[in-house]
Amino acid sequence: MAVAEAIDADLLRLGGFSGPDTPEDDLLRACVHCGMCLSSCPTYRLTGQEMSSPRGRLWLMRAVADERLDLLDPLFDEQMYQCLNCRACEAVCPSGVHYGPLVEASRAQLESHRPRPLPQRALRRVGLDWLFADARRLRRLVGLLGLAQRTGLIALGRKLGIPQRLGMGDLETLTPRISRRPLVPGNERWTADAVNGAPATVRLFNGCVMGTVFANTNRAAARVMARNGADVALPVAQQCCGALHVHAGMMEEARALARTNIDAFEASGDDPIVVTAAGCGAALKEYGYLLKDDPAYADRARRFSDRVQDFTEHLGAHDLVPPPKPLKRRVTYQEPCHLAHAQRISAQPRALMAAISGLELIEMKESALCCGSAGIYNIIRPEMANELGDRKALHVMETPAVEVVTANPGCQMQVSASLRRNGSLARVRHIADLLDEAYGGAKTKRALIGKPDLRRK
Ligand code: SF4
Ligand code: SF4
Repeated sequence: MAVAEAIDADLLRLGGFSGPDTPEDDLLRACVHCGMCLSSCPTYRLTGQEMSSPRGRLWLMRAVADERLDLLDPLFDEQMYQCLNCRACEAVCPSGVHYGPLVEASRAQLESHRPRPLPQRALRRVGLDWLFADARRLRRLVGLLGLAQRTGLIALGRKLGIPQRLGMGDLETLTPRISRRPLVPGNERWTADAVNGAPATVRLFNGCVMGTVFANTNRAAARVMARNGADVALPVAQQCCGALHVHAGMMEEARALARTNIDAFEASGDDPIVVTAAGCGAALKEYGYLLKDDPAYADRARRFSDRVQDFTEHLGAHDLVPPPKPLKRRVTYQEPCHLAHAQRISAQPRALMAAISGLELIEMKESALCCGSAGIYNIIRPEMANELGDRKALHVMETPAVEVVTANPGCQMQVSASLRRNGSLARVRHIADLLDEAYGGAKTKRALIGKPDLRRK
């Protein structure tokens, strides 16, 4: 009996997907194996292996769905997490295979069924569930990191080789200059400059990294929108978008964050929700899909997603007030995957740069190929991420550009670290900072009204 039970238990462990968040069969069957996505896939380009291509990964998902491959087979785990979820395959697929939700559901299946070592589970719980799920907590931690950076503690640690000794060498080089003051929703708002017609109202999505590490970039974006006729405010109760959770297969945690954000933005009616991080924007635009089976939120999630616009998409939809200050320099543009592929926004950032007098945009090779950032990919898979980062740095260095412009914090950190590693002095900037400079920057004080309430929420 004991032997029979053991065999039964073993048989139960073999097989396909089960439970919630199963890759949808009709999405899987849309792939006709044409191979047109292969050359767009960064991991296929690096390895040359079919299994590391979108077609190979879709084949693996089908094999698990049809119970020809065990969900717990290490090959499946390896390939689902070697994928950057950059969605380049989706953008070129003639059959319209919606790859993102498939790989995310496959990861959710792995996280529900595959036992993980305790340290890994603890790291996910503390990092993603505890820290990123609470904006106040994250602000405090980033505030401490910023203080350590400004007082030279981080530089001292670097001199003593502490990050390397802790195996955090790559993480350390990714640390950007942290904004001195976080952007706390409800504490600051911007009023529109007089432009033709009544001012529009925009709700800014703050984001966990953008609202802390890059808080000044969010302020720059708000100033630029105000110069273009929008009142800008940040709904108070908003939280992290949950993109990192979706990418890590933590769907319930992502849904909880999505519900919080839907509640937080609902009172602002149909006002556009503008996002400065491409990764957050792609996740917010997919709340309708994430909550499609939740009867209380499905319709509300769809309405929320319909309101979401990337910062460049929002500005690109209106006649831009010409930026008054010429910027005489050469720049190149790094396309964030979640802007170019997941949201199909490529023309608007280039059009915005073309509106800046004196600025010369010089295209680099493979501008839309993933830089290796991909959420936390560059931390958990540094080898492949570094290879992609080096490739990106090389392409930047082949141009005479002195600045790389992008629209996502992950790309900004990864490209910057890759350029430093390869000896380049080119700096990497968010497009909102570039535009803000062309409008005169914070010095004009034209858009910020009143005295910001600096009380920490
Ligand atoms: S994902 Fe699309 S492009 Fe790639 S093999 Fe399948 S059908 Fe062809
Ligand atoms: S998401 Fe990116 S890395 Fe993953 S299969 Fe598609 S193209 Fe390749």
